[in-house]
Amino acid sequence: SQRASNMPSYPGLDRWRLLEKIGDGAFSCVYRASDTKSELGEVAIKVTKKYEMKEEQKKKLHDEVEITRKLDHDNVVRLIDASESVQYHYMFLELCPGGELYDQIVKFASLSEQMARHVIWQVANAVQYLHETMGVVHRDIKPENILFYPNSTTPREESKSTQSGDEEEAVSIADVGASDIGVVKLADFGLSKVIAGVPAATPCGTMSYAAPELFRKHRYTTSVDMWALGCLLFTMLAGFPPFYDEDLDIMRRQIMQGEYSFSAPKWDTISDGAKDLVSRLLTINPEERSTIQECLDHPWMHEDSEDKTPTN
Ligand code: ADP
Ligand code: MG
Repeated sequence: SQRASNMPSYPGLDRWRLLEKIGDGAFSCVYRASDTKSELGEVAIKVTKKYEMKEEQKKKLHDEVEITRKLDHDNVVRLIDASESVQYHYMFLELCPGGELYDQIVKFASLSEQMARHVIWQVANAVQYLHETMGVVHRDIKPENILFYPNSTTPREESKSTQSGDEEEAVSIADVGASDIGVVKLADFGLSKVIAGVPAATPCGTMSYAAPELFRKHRYTTSVDMWALGCLLFTMLAGFPPFYDEDLDIMRRQIMQGEYSFSAPKWDTISDGAKDLVSRLLTINPEERSTIQECLDHPWMHEDSEDKTPTN
């Protein structure tokens, strides 16, 4: 393929044809790739440059692989395999062809309540599995790490082949009903930790979604993911995050004081149920904040029966 010829080649990846770069990070690049042996189909390969990493960062990479390897849930991106060369580390991941939630929010400014419910429900199911079954805190829940796995990619493939240009149409959630978005998957366990009863104390994660207790240097636990879920739900509904300032000191103060608002005009049209769930998640005191079970049991989660109706 023409596209493949523009791609870098990595030692030990001979079996794979790299098709396009789909993600970029500090130490890693993520590619869509196809199996030349036609056994595994298309996958996402997360390539990490080990040679740029300090020992501590390599340890984190090791943790990411070990945690992801143990996870087995439909709303969590699955690790198919991992391997490495002297300089690079490779994670072979289940490909999510629908891309990031982040791009959908940017593209459509905000999501309908029904759509936001569909997404948060599935992310919350992933989080319940992590917290209650696996004793894992994700610590980096945000729209960039939430990926779409459309129910059917067949119509997209067909329409692509009839298009003249080589512009690729991303699957857009505005073109489909909530029940057609398909599966939503949580990715990127690069900051996650196994807690197993022992609260972790390392401050890390993305500032904008960081819980207040992270700045108070308290030991923290699964509650940080619940705060991030509140930020996520707010952002999907409003199209902008609850706490944001270019000045990080100001943003930290906003977060620590729980200073956000359901501002007009955007929030005027959003239901009281949605606002209630957001405020239960964005509760400063982690002891009072919604747990994952309380979040899943919240009436707003169950208000609209349409997106839980079986499609067959
Ligand atoms: P980082 O630790 O650099 O943030 P991620 O694991 O979050 O790495 O991957 C970076 C980006 O690559 C994601 O935000 C997403 O756009 C893309 N990506 C990662 N894994 C997949 C996947 N399995 N399917 C599709 N895209 C992916
Ligand atoms: Mg990421």
